[in-house]
Amino acid sequence: MVEEVVRQPLNAKKLKSVTTILPYPPLSDTQLSLLNELARRYAATRTQAVRTVVPDFPLRFIPSVEKRTVRRKSIKVKNISKLYRYLTKAKGSLVITGREMNPTDKAIADYIVTQANKGQVLCLFPDRYSLEWALHHFSAQQNRRPSIYHAGLSKSTLATTWKKIATGEAQIIFGTRTALFAPFASLCSILAFNASDDSYRSWDMQPHYDARELAMVVAKNKMPNFLFAVLPSFSITAGVPLVRVPATTLPKRVAFDRRALPYTERKKILPEELIKKIAAEDKPVLVFANKRGYAALVCRDCGYLPRCESCDRALVLKSKKTIATLHCERCNVNISTPETCPECTGASFHFVGAGVERIAEAIKNAFPTKTVQILSASNKQNVILASTLENIRRDTVDIIVATAVILPRLWTVPTFDLTIVLGAEGLFLQTDWQASERVLATLEQLSAHTSGELMVDTYGNEDPALKAFLAGTTADFYKQEIKLRKKFNYPPYGTILTLSGTSKELDTLAAVLKKGQLAIIEIILQREVGGAIKMIILKVSKEASLKPLFALLTSAIKVDVNPTTLL
Ligand SMILES: [Zn+2]
Ligand SMILES: [Zn+2]
Repeated sequence: MVEEVVRQPLNAKKLKSVTTILPYPPLSDTQLSLLNELARRYAATRTQAVRTVVPDFPLRFIPSVEKRTVRRKSIKVKNISKLYRYLTKAKGSLVITGREMNPTDKAIADYIVTQANKGQVLCLFPDRYSLEWALHHFSAQQNRRPSIYHAGLSKSTLATTWKKIATGEAQIIFGTRTALFAPFASLCSILAFNASDDSYRSWDMQPHYDARELAMVVAKNKMPNFLFAVLPSFSITAGVPLVRVPATTLPKRVAFDRRALPYTERKKILPEELIKKIAAEDKPVLVFANKRGYAALVCRDCGYLPRCESCDRALVLKSKKTIATLHCERCNVNISTPETCPECTGASFHFVGAGVERIAEAIKNAFPTKTVQILSASNKQNVILASTLENIRRDTVDIIVATAVILPRLWTVPTFDLTIVLGAEGLFLQTDWQASERVLATLEQLSAHTSGELMVDTYGNEDPALKAFLAGTTADFYKQEIKLRKKFNYPPYGTILTLSGTSKELDTLAAVLKKGQLAIIEIILQREVGGAIKMIILKVSKEASLKPLFALLTSAIKVDVNPTTLL
């Protein structure tokens, strides 16, 4: 067949462009380099990498793609601020820090619209909620609507946008992490907002890539790439130049030390002093706590604490109404509450610890006439979250009790006059190498969104990160921390890998690793259940190539590179 065609005299007019025949346009150079990076950094197999970069749209949605010239509006910017000048001069990646920033800040909005005259501008957001908020406000402010691209859209909508990105018709694109893989016709700048949020990492399927790292790969050829973060993650941004913008709010940072209180006060969920503090406020108050649900249960007689069988975490009551069920937040499983203690057959249990539900209950008791609302990950999926945030904006809530779920959404609500971090010990539950960084990022974000006073309630916690935060010396603490990481080869100076899968696969791998031929600094942990290996955690030097290790992995082994948690 091919021969037949070739033998005939060539008719140039009959030749068709390959792009008119293929169901997809050929991958761009950027997309190809992303494919390779997924394999090189995150151990993606070819299939996984292709599945990540090439969307699974039904083919009929993709008509042939031809590049169009797009007529561009000319925009003049008045009152160019200092930040605007930094943005326009930037080449490659830059971290913009010191305060909260979003696409409607004047300098940033001006930058986006002027850049859009030169090519395509991609604005990345950690989650759909902040994307939609930014979209709404940016559209209203600029009187133009960016194209949106995130995994929650229907396949036909995604396909239409994908095509508009490929033709260059879409000039400003607001997207979540997947948008980075779109076939840009003329991408000229990337802006990642709220870049300390780990939602930039893919967690639901292999490979577990990090869009912030990949944005830097794309920007390598001198494309401006900005990471906006109150406190940037230094595993990711170490070595990237930093621009500090003066903070808009500088609250007083106060330690509330429970050890100074009388014994009965000390044990209260909400001591009198904090109640007085809240009572004196006529503006909305934020009470932040790092614990979901109501509380855990403990046997009154022997101290037995029901724990999850698979992960050993303390089981919690989701709310006081669901007392018959205990819940594991990590494994998302429910078990029925034991009627008697399995250890001592005692029949009375009492509550320990206070989750947001229990805190809200205590606040409602103290302030029966005030409106109290909970913002927690358990109501993340439904409309409650959006409506609660809307209520805060409308100023119809007096006290908000929130978990970390509020952090990436803080910029969508007005600044708080008083923020109380209740039970700050709850921030230190994880003890991995990123623990201090995570605590500081949380506190700095809360601080950036508080104008009057930020109180940190502790039992005299001596943690150096917390002390540095209260003293306002976070930057110095960072310098120390980075030295330690360098000394012990933790990211960004080394790579942490968690490998999980079937014990058969992992046993074989463990045997190879023991021979010590690979450039592995340390096997940190080999988690075993009943003699079978369930997980291997490795530390590899930054200089070593991961290739020989990745070559040993079968697709049955799940890989997480620099995971957010080691649990
Ligand atoms: Zn007991
Ligand atoms: Zn569990």
